[in-house]
Amino acid sequence: MLIIPCPDCGARDYTEFRYGGDANRARPPHGGGSLQDWHDHVFVFDNPKGPHHEYWQHVMGCREWLVVERNTASNTLISVRRARDARAGR
Ligand SMILES: [Zn+2]
Repeated sequence: MLIIPCPDCGARDYTEFRYGGDANRARPPHGGGSLQDWHDHVFVFDNPKGPHHEYWQHVMGCREWLVVERNTASNTLISVRRARDARAGR
């Protein structure tokens, strides 16, 4: 079982969250990018083993988007922060 400490709501079971994808990948620009760029962004994923940054949204709580650093080999959390803070470099 994975418990995610939401900055707003506290520790919650992962079933309250929705996985939102790899937080290390840049999305093609809105209204831009080739069909291949969008295909790769939507359908092609890495499957890393070890520490990985992921987007998760607290859909059954505050609806905040988070960047969760999770070790995919042990399914343990390393860090959690708001996505807006991660984008701002905080
Ligand atoms: Zn929350």
